[in-house]
Amino acid sequence: MNILVSGAGIAGLACALEFGARGHDVTVVEYARRLRLTGTPIDIRGAAIEAVDRMGLLAKIRKQRVRVSELTRFVDSRGEPVARIPMAEISDSDDDIELLREDLVRILADALPDTAVIRFGDSIETLTDSGDVRFASGDIGRYDLVVGADGQHSAVRGLVFGPEEDYLRHLGVYFALADLPGEAHSGGANSIYNVPGRMAGVFRYRGKAVANFQFRSAPIDYDHRDLNAQKKILLDAFAGHRSWRIPELLEAARADPGFFFTSASRIHLPSWHRGRVVLVGDAGYCPAYLSGRGTSLALTGARFLAEELERCGNDHTTAFARYEARLRPYVAFAQDRVEGGRDRIVPATWADIAARNRALRALDTGIAETQRAEENP
Ligand SMILES: Cc1cc2nc3c(=O)[nH]c(=O)nc-3n(C[C@H](O)[C@H](O)[C@H](O)COP(=O)(O)OP(=O)(O)OC[C@H]3O[C@@H](n4cnc5c(N)ncnc54)[C@H](O)[C@@H]3O)c2cc1C
Repeated sequence: MNILVSGAGIAGLACALEFGARGHDVTVVEYARRLRLTGTPIDIRGAAIEAVDRMGLLAKIRKQRVRVSELTRFVDSRGEPVARIPMAEISDSDDDIELLREDLVRILADALPDTAVIRFGDSIETLTDSGDVRFASGDIGRYDLVVGADGQHSAVRGLVFGPEEDYLRHLGVYFALADLPGEAHSGGANSIYNVPGRMAGVFRYRGKAVANFQFRSAPIDYDHRDLNAQKKILLDAFAGHRSWRIPELLEAARADPGFFFTSASRIHLPSWHRGRVVLVGDAGYCPAYLSGRGTSLALTGARFLAEELERCGNDHTTAFARYEARLRPYVAFAQDRVEGGRDRIVPATWADIAARNRALRALDTGIAETQRAEENP
């Protein structure tokens, strides 16, 4: 089949690999001029581990494993650690793999077969559910299938399923990321500092450091491609906050051309397919970054879709329905787990921050006591 994929993120690259490996011709259209490599570490869990194993990439991915969350501490305004991230609570199992988003993007892109090409700097401008496409560049094409893997603000979804506001539920938190080129690259602990309704953090990995900000807010209307407007939203949200390293980290955000800004939002559609068009990853079922499961859903979704297409002898109507029925329980599980993540990372008040720290310290003591009991029965 001749398949067009919109978006060269995790979902789009995984689709290109899965379809390409099954002999389909795949064109990936990505509006950025190159692969987008920004991002804090992401997690591969559960069925997604099997998906990357079947792609033949598990060993490569395991080699790039990092332990950023494990080395993260909540700190007070002097930078003193006050609590740790409860790894046992946020992991599904010891097999979970934390790795840099950029490493995963590179590994997937390097593994693309000759039958898959990426067309950078272009995007779909018009699209029908029978697969007729006009690109922003002016080119036109007709495809057997069109896959919308273009993220939370998917253009394919907008063109075929309707406006974003019908499907997006804002979860009350925004997220920003900026490079910290001057930060020491020591193996020291990573830090998260809170003031009510806001967090600022520093994460270091492999000779790199990034500043991360999250803040609670009602929905904000902004242009998803206007970096300066997004930086201003962040600066306004932290205006007047000068404790810990906040001013210095905001300065880094102001200066970073690769600045990344997003919202914690859930995407829910009654159906992920229409005619020859199907959605994969955040475009169809974004669970919000707070779930820690967006990447795993994207990888698992790509695999289930390609497998069902193969199983159904390329009868896309049946394959799409089977893909959706198979993946829905994973999506429901991931989407159910976001509120706890938000309250832990961005507590709303000083009292909530103190309560979070107390609860995490108690959990830590409990874990230490259990370990001691197991070691000295
Ligand atoms: C630059 C970047 C940084 C990120 N950082 C983090 C992070 O720090 N923590 C975290 O939890 N999640 C992060 N994410 C989101 C995370 O990668 C996804 O939630 C998850 O991996 C699911 O991937 P996806 O492929 O569905 O969506 P994405 O990874 O968002 O990929 C979508 C791709 O589609 C492209 N695209 C968008 N619109 C169009 C269009 N109209 N035409 C063509 N292409 C288009 C985008 O440029 C992108 O390459 C980030 C995403 C991006 C793009």
